[in-house]
Amino acid sequence: MIAEEGKSKEVILTGIAASPGIAIGSAYLYSKVVPKVSPRSLADDEVDAELQRLQDALARSEKELQKIHSFAEQKLGSQSARIFEAQIMILQDSVLMGAIRNRIRNEKKNAEYLVFDEVDKYRRIMSDSADEYIQERAHDVDDVMNRIIRNILDQKLFSRLEGESLIVSESLTPADTVIFSRNQVLGYATDFGGFTSHAALLSRSLKIPAVLGLRTATKHIKTGDCIALDGYGGALIIHPSEETIESLRRKEQRLKEFDKKLEGIANLPAETLDHKRYELSANLELQDEVEYAIQQGSQGIGLYRTEGQLMGRQSFPSEDEQAAEYTAIAEQMFPHPVMLRTFDIGGDKMSPVPLKEENPFLGWRGIRVSLDRPEMFLDQLRAILRASTKKNVRILLPMVSKIGEVRKAKEYLKQAQHDLTLRRCPFDKNIKLGVMIEVPSAAVLAEELAREADFLSIGTNDLIQYLLAVDRGNNMVASLYQEFNPAVIRTVKSIIDAGHKHGKWVGMCGEMAGNPIATILLVGLGLDEFSVAPPILPEIKKIIRSIKFKDARKVADKVLTLPTEFEIKEYLAAIVKEKLPDMPVEALDTSQDKLYVPSSKPL
Ligand code: PEP
Ligand code: MG
Repeated sequence: MIAEEGKSKEVILTGIAASPGIAIGSAYLYSKVVPKVSPRSLADDEVDAELQRLQDALARSEKELQKIHSFAEQKLGSQSARIFEAQIMILQDSVLMGAIRNRIRNEKKNAEYLVFDEVDKYRRIMSDSADEYIQERAHDVDDVMNRIIRNILDQKLFSRLEGESLIVSESLTPADTVIFSRNQVLGYATDFGGFTSHAALLSRSLKIPAVLGLRTATKHIKTGDCIALDGYGGALIIHPSEETIESLRRKEQRLKEFDKKLEGIANLPAETLDHKRYELSANLELQDEVEYAIQQGSQGIGLYRTEGQLMGRQSFPSEDEQAAEYTAIAEQMFPHPVMLRTFDIGGDKMSPVPLKEENPFLGWRGIRVSLDRPEMFLDQLRAILRASTKKNVRILLPMVSKIGEVRKAKEYLKQAQHDLTLRRCPFDKNIKLGVMIEVPSAAVLAEELAREADFLSIGTNDLIQYLLAVDRGNNMVASLYQEFNPAVIRTVKSIIDAGHKHGKWVGMCGEMAGNPIATILLVGLGLDEFSVAPPILPEIKKIIRSIKFKDARKVADKVLTLPTEFEIKEYLAAIVKEKLPDMPVEALDTSQDKLYVPSSKPL
């Protein structure tokens, strides 16, 4: 949207609020262009010096990557830092580097050209692959190649920024996110990427504001442009006016003040004014996040996305490796519960299994992969069982679409228990098994699934995409992805009722559980547990502590009569404003859809 603001023209782009905070400053347009190289012939007596140039550049590149690795390890933990070990391994690949050295000797050409020519061959094969995992690895090869070439040419590395900047890029790899954070980075803005992407997750851990999925940011912005990033509301403003800057600063101030009011809430229970208690737990993907979740007052892990373990790997972790990780998490969280979800690979998530599918979200994903790969599934089930000795571990199955899948998974669980009994390995014999309700057929069959399982957990991220036929990662249809669509709310209600009819506990681990506008409604619908991203935990607790269950029920009854998502959102936002007048209204601004129009769509 282009709005006339006095003399200055503001351009407002909307995207996904991936990491909270406001950032205003100068843009740095980061484009991953390979430095220009061209072939140059060498005289015989120049060959040795050229080999030395290459050697020096490799040594410098390795030193830089080692530094980044240890920085990432310090700031984010060893698991997240593993990505950089893979890059260092490329540098140390003796076959690849040997081939480049041989070509310098035989072809008598310059080092930067031969590095480009040789490495690019591999990179192209990888990026042409239909397998997303291999495509991702091509980015690593790309990064390493650029680093070596820049070091040969003695060029300034992109990771060394002058002064404070906001990074604007088509996309950011986890490596970019960490590398830039070493500088005075104020924020991240990208054309692609969603709330659950790794760049988003790392930005939140690094506490750097980020708005992703802006689609056209790199087309509109030049390096040096003044931009403002609203990581709370998911907007980027190019050439912001004085008034806009002031209003964003005020917004930041109000949100910070509200955050201060939440200090100390971590040690209080998630209990309504009429004393109904809720389990308020965290959604995590990496072991490194556990401590932060505890600090935020998490009373358990409602969803541990075990596929986070696959980041930067080409094979599945062994049973022992998995058992060590799960045990450490269960111990850290004890006595609170930890729901370990079995690998949800496929869809838009990475996978060490080669996948080539036309329609991956409707394809080989989650429990389907596990049931088709019994060895992998049994390894994971045994690892989970080994971590269950303190009896605070539960199993969660993703992407279930029929009863047979749960029955089959239970057979494998029995087999895993039998294997461990033979090995005299202790485990919780009464371990609870839950089912994610995230596919419409599972929602329809919720009663039968509740009979079959020990508990249900509603995965609204997928449930909404499958129920409303809206790709959760596609910005073109983002406005149709509606948490408050009456169809979604009625489905959530029927799942909760189905679980309760069979005496089963029903939680929610989709992003809707962490939406402050939804909290009162979900309490009123009878949800037993909220599992949310750790940063939002205190806010959700504050809302729960500010309401009465009996009032929330009335709110839910009223919502169930409203016919459109707009009316529902507006009604709920008004209730939150009434119950929590000091809560920043921006967080509840239902008129945002009207203010910020999406950037233009292709015809
Ligand atoms: C969900 O679908 O709501 C969910 C929590 O799972 P994920 O986001 O990992 O697909
Ligand atoms: Mg899901």
